[in-house]
Amino acid sequence: MPIVKAYAAESADQPLGPFQLSRREPGPRDVVIDIQFCGVCHSDLHQARNEWGNSTFPMVPGHEIVGRVIAIGADVTSHTPGDPVGVGCFVDSCRACEACAGGEEQFCPTCSFSYNGVEADRVTPTHGGYSTQIVVDERYVLKVPANLPLDAAAPLLCAGITTYSPLRQWGIKAGDKVGVVGLGGLGHMGVKFAAAMGAEVTVFSTSDRKKADAERLGAHHFVNSTVDGAFDALQGAFDFILNTVSANVDLNQYLALLKRDKAMVLVGVPSEPAPVSAFALVMGRKRLTGSLIGGIRETQEMLDFCGQHNIVSDIERIPMQAINEAYERMLKGDVRYRFVIDLASLA
Ligand code: NAP
Ligand code: ZN
Ligand code: ZN
Repeated sequence: MPIVKAYAAESADQPLGPFQLSRREPGPRDVVIDIQFCGVCHSDLHQARNEWGNSTFPMVPGHEIVGRVIAIGADVTSHTPGDPVGVGCFVDSCRACEACAGGEEQFCPTCSFSYNGVEADRVTPTHGGYSTQIVVDERYVLKVPANLPLDAAAPLLCAGITTYSPLRQWGIKAGDKVGVVGLGGLGHMGVKFAAAMGAEVTVFSTSDRKKADAERLGAHHFVNSTVDGAFDALQGAFDFILNTVSANVDLNQYLALLKRDKAMVLVGVPSEPAPVSAFALVMGRKRLTGSLIGGIRETQEMLDFCGQHNIVSDIERIPMQAINEAYERMLKGDVRYRFVIDLASLA
């Protein structure tokens, strides 16, 4: 395999910079993908800066990968050269455990995350989509519907499945009152999906700046969570709350907005723990839970749903060289609503 151009973080306190890596020789079940676009997830930033305390360096982030198949191994049956394909947050798993058998590979104890992880050999570090090529077993390669623009489809591979999955798992249906906390990369996809499922959607955001966007994305109501008394009229009003915030917010304040027996799902992963009051849960038998991306089967289902409903991400395309500035803008909430790297900039 040729040497592949990439961008890497060499340590937690250095900006990302040019890097080279070699991908493995494709085996009989491998698909070689020419990466065209890669979305920029807040998890990339958390890990490049070791905010979760589990980072290994050098790290080539990126798990919202789309491109074209350029070669396949002899035994590959599900993908053909030229196909538009995607790779999400993991590139392998044990294929034998309960999670894998149930199509929930993201919970496999030896899930190979697309970067900051190890390959199936449990030794070789994985490197993600801030690079021009990747080699992945066909089982972990998704089909991107041909009617979707590839650049705007990239964020579906993480932001898309991470918001689609909990809405499906919790059976969101027409008429349900759904709150989405945080209008960033994940949040804006949550709004699109919940609206497409027929829910009445309320966005909770930390300023009024995104109000018009929220409505355009499909939200029916908008709440500036920093305004005194903003929550007063909403106590016990929601069937479901999807919390996508990358920093800690007062969870108790949001639990109070749920109807009896209803759930708030955390998908945002701040690095610090947050206090939860037992009162906020026992009064009304509320549920506080979490969700991690989604399995291969559900990710394909989500992509097909997007193909049918013409759902993609709202993106700002950037060259690879702009990644450090993009991270700073993401920290300021200044993304509308996902940066997507054009890997042609590395050619
Ligand atoms: P993002 O684009 O940066 O969006 C996060 C949003 O949270 C911001 O746009 C902002 O929304 C809000 N926010 C940020 N700081 C805040 C603060 N201090 N107080 C209140 N609100 C704040 O990030 P993302 O890519 O959507 O990722 C969000 C989180 O999900 C990250 O922690 C990421 O690691 C995690 N994640 C989890 C999974 C999973 O499987 N569970 C998958 C992907 C990502 P407003 O401007 O509207 O206030
Ligand atoms: Zn992600
Ligand atoms: Zn497994």
